[in-house]
Amino acid sequence: MVSSYVTGDWYAPANAATVLRSPVDGHELAGVSSEGIDFQAVLDHGRAVGGPNLRKHTFHERAAMLKELVAALARHKDELYELSADTGATRSDALLDIDGGMGVLASYASRALRELPNERYIVDGGPEALSRDGTFLGRHIRTPLEGVAIHINAFNFPCWGELEKFAPAFLAGMPVVVKPASQTSFVAEKVVSAIIDADVLPPGSLQMVAGSIDGLLERLTGQDYVGFTGSSQTASMLRGLESVRSRSVRFMAETDSLNSAILCLSNGNDSPEIDLFVDEIVKEITAKSGQRCTAIRRALVPESVMETVIERLQGRIGGLKVGDPRDPETDLGPLVSAHQVTEVGKAVDILRAGCELATDPVGYGLDELHPDGAYYPPTLLVAPDGDFEPVHRVEPFGPVTTLVPYLDTMDAIEITSRGGGSLVASVYSEDPDLARDLVLGLAPYHGRVLVLDTHCAQSSTGHGSPLPHLVHGGPGRAGGGEELGGVRSIFHYMQTTAIQGSPDTVNWSAE
Ligand code: NAP
Repeated sequence: MVSSYVTGDWYAPANAATVLRSPVDGHELAGVSSEGIDFQAVLDHGRAVGGPNLRKHTFHERAAMLKELVAALARHKDELYELSADTGATRSDALLDIDGGMGVLASYASRALRELPNERYIVDGGPEALSRDGTFLGRHIRTPLEGVAIHINAFNFPCWGELEKFAPAFLAGMPVVVKPASQTSFVAEKVVSAIIDADVLPPGSLQMVAGSIDGLLERLTGQDYVGFTGSSQTASMLRGLESVRSRSVRFMAETDSLNSAILCLSNGNDSPEIDLFVDEIVKEITAKSGQRCTAIRRALVPESVMETVIERLQGRIGGLKVGDPRDPETDLGPLVSAHQVTEVGKAVDILRAGCELATDPVGYGLDELHPDGAYYPPTLLVAPDGDFEPVHRVEPFGPVTTLVPYLDTMDAIEITSRGGGSLVASVYSEDPDLARDLVLGLAPYHGRVLVLDTHCAQSSTGHGSPLPHLVHGGPGRAGGGEELGGVRSIFHYMQTTAIQGSPDTVNWSAE
């Protein structure tokens, strides 16, 4: 049974509400249930124990604790890698999740030490003169909210997803309750146990509930915070809860996203951009078997080179190996569950009503893999044109990309915006002026835009990787949230207050 860590203790109910099976071969992994957990006690513990304990410390002291956690988690890396294989993750997938997660903690710790004061509050900007004689001034301060941050995570990054939310909340001074996605909660449980065993955090700073949290969000107040990652349907249902709406609970959502890649040409069929574009699509189909919120779903190609791009992609995608994630030869492990295979299949069926299939699903030897595994073939589709509506609506959350022909820059921007707001777009162009036009057109619809050319391709961190330094989020369908992005994400967990008074009253040190 996956245990929860609540009110300072581990807890596992006797009966499982959900039984988890390995996507590798269908063997039973664990049961999950939150039956018997008193959610009011969880919230009370965070508010009465975690919050005060955390707020005794300065930003620098909390940053030092995060650094210690990185070292503690590193000692459990092998166990985390092994557990991750039963989420379908290959070694390189697990690297993104586990090493990536530790990297986010380390990055936040360093930035907090560099950019935040060794204080418990932040003075934001200088004084504002509010009277002619200078006797009445105003300025802003930021203080941590006094409630609990509830972090609801998606199944695809049980370690990174947990840590990238935890770091800014902890630094701000807010205790966290993590609710991992059930399917991969056994990895999240290991991450929490490694953190708790390190004995670094002030008591009450971190709790975890495995399984349902029905009834918890109903108890939130305006001092609490919800950080959600998952589907837009769940986000919109939770955002609409009476408690969340009527008490103005802060609600940050990262949801699904139909990210785009846009190929530009500097030399027709010989354009170097084509190889960069093809490489990136193959990487995005392969990493986590396409189960990344940032994966390329719509790849926009000038009609004149469509045949060339299809041929090059067929060559590369056809050579990918699908199989057991523990086999070092495997490029793509299984999807996270049999349910996800069904969901991706349904999405692909909708897309195939108007798109051509450019890859051969039987070419990957899936029949030879374990029949109870959750394997899905890499899939390349070609849309007839940018007017094919489902490609801008349906998200196949697996190794699936659709090529979409486009005419010119305006057309590319217009087609991309039909996704209703996305996390990331990438532009493949050797021409900085053209790239700038595209960036300006894409920016209102995206949280991040990568421009890839031959100068930066070698050092690029890639289309699909959110970074702690840069904003991760997107408008509209992508949830309207903004995670990561350096210390600005710490401010989400703080209240900004304008203080007014005489020079002596508002003369707070900015350091
Ligand atoms: P989901 O069903 O919305 O689940 C996401 C999380 O919400 C899980 O922890 C789930 O818990 C929880 N949840 C579901 N119903 C809930 C309720 N009534 N109250 C509280 N929590 C509830 O999403 P999914 O289908 O598993 O995840 C895949 C989706 O996530 C994809 O669409 C993908 O695009 C998106 N995603 C987005 C990002 C991003 O950063 N934008 C990152 C990763 C994934 P249980 O597992 O226990 O049901």
